[in-house]
Formats: sequence, structure tokens, C-alpha cells
Amino acid sequence: MFIFLLVLVAVLVWMAVTFRARKAVKDCRWRENRAKDSAEGRYFICMNCGAETRTGDAKPPRSCLRPRGGD
Ligand SMILES: [Zn+2]
Repeated sequence: MFIFLLVLVAVLVWMAVTFRARKAVKDCRWRENRAKDSAEGRYFICMNCGAETRTGDAKPPRSCLRPRGGD
């Protein structure tokens, strides 16, 4: 019984994590623009909310950087 509860909790946590991850990806659609690269890293702009950022590892951010009060 104890193991069953442990598995149940693990599944719930896994679902919560993947749900949040999918939602974050859904919110922002990052597009890289190498023309705007700088010393800070690769330039990305969000097609959904217009947020701009630069990342050092050349990968788009995982979460939405939607400005507060926007949209
Ligand atoms: Zn966004």
C-alpha cells in the first residue's frame, strides 16, 4: 500500500511538471535572429508576446518572458 501511494504521488508530480513545461512552451514561440547576436549570446524574440532575450547557450528560454500587463 505504501508503495502504491509513492507511485501515485510520483505520477502526480510528473504530470504537474510536464503540464507546466508544455504550457510554458505554448506561451512563447521563440525565434532566433542571428543578425542581432551580441556578446551576451544568441538573440531570441517571442512571436506571441514580443519578449526579447539573449541566451548564452544558443537555446531559446524555457519559460515565457511575457511582460507584465501586456496582452
Ligand atoms: Zn512570449
